[in-house]
Amino acid sequence: MIRLSRGILLAATCALAPAPAWAAAPFKPDVFIAATGGTIAGAQANVEQHGYTAGELGVASLIAAVPQLTDIANVTGEQVMNIPSQDMDDAAWLTLAKRLETLERSDAVTGIVVTHGTDTMEETSFFVALTVDTPKPIVFTGAMRPATAIGADGPANLYDAVAVAGSTLTRACGTVVVFNDQIHSARYVYKTDTTRPDAFTSVDRGPVGAVDTGHPVVFDGCAGSAFRQPMVPIAGISALPKVDILYAYAGMGRDLIDHAVLAGAKGIVMAGVGDGNVTEAALAGLRDASAKGVVVVRSTRVVAGFTMRNAEVDDDKDRFVASAELKPSKARILLKLALLKPSSLAEIQADFDTW
Ligand code: GLU
Repeated sequence: MIRLSRGILLAATCALAPAPAWAAAPFKPDVFIAATGGTIAGAQANVEQHGYTAGELGVASLIAAVPQLTDIANVTGEQVMNIPSQDMDDAAWLTLAKRLETLERSDAVTGIVVTHGTDTMEETSFFVALTVDTPKPIVFTGAMRPATAIGADGPANLYDAVAVAGSTLTRACGTVVVFNDQIHSARYVYKTDTTRPDAFTSVDRGPVGAVDTGHPVVFDGCAGSAFRQPMVPIAGISALPKVDILYAYAGMGRDLIDHAVLAGAKGIVMAGVGDGNVTEAALAGLRDASAKGVVVVRSTRVVAGFTMRNAEVDDDKDRFVASAELKPSKARILLKLALLKPSSLAEIQADFDTW
């Protein structure tokens, strides 16, 4: 193979000897697109304004906008929902994950692409990774610019996502996010830019692979990035417990913590300052919450780094859990799932250290 330029490959031998008429057609994977909305399906009233409405276009329009998809896969799709992803909630996650589990079991599906708004993609993809058995790849993608924008990024992201979903290379990667030429594990990825096309970062690890115009490369076979089995199989889940995230700041009182407990939270994820720290007043509130049986997980408002157990806070004495690598958005998902089974605090800590 001779690489001429980005995305153009010349097969020198093929050029010399065209395939005989009886040769088998090249294998094309069957890729299913489960569309949920977001900017990739968004439309502007005017391309010169940044305002737009997410979740306007249907899955048929998304597929029709990238005719090259049919060169690399047999593509079918379904509109599972059509919402901006800030409206994702427990019910939407359960609906989507149950549908994906069914598709995973279908012989007619080689791989699955989920189109999704970018705001909560780090949460939905992690929920799916923890609840759906993925012998076939599940690939989340979306766009930072609406479909009608100058320089819309959705078509390239969708093309790459379909290529990754149809590739045997990415089978070991489980649930991933494909965005801006990179493949990220759903375990490690966060949205780290509000508006630019390079909006996703696997902050403590880096991406698990790259895609160059539909040609995926996977680093180290995705070693360690996927789960061997679901933490809690989706079939057994009908509702999720209430878990709140509270954001720490200088001078924070305990009133928001007390309110969360009064409002029925079964768990609180504290987005603490630094290594998951809070003021003395907030700490007293968290201790009281824990004494009432609310599971308190210390995480961090800092973009990168782990939250270490028993560092500045005595988690053993105060009966807290440390979120380890997980930042608040993913810590909340894991805690919701951990609370579905009767567990000691030590077992919940083990969940955070394992998953
Ligand atoms: N807020 C919308 C959403 O998350 C649009 C953002 C986007 O998709 O990039 O669905």
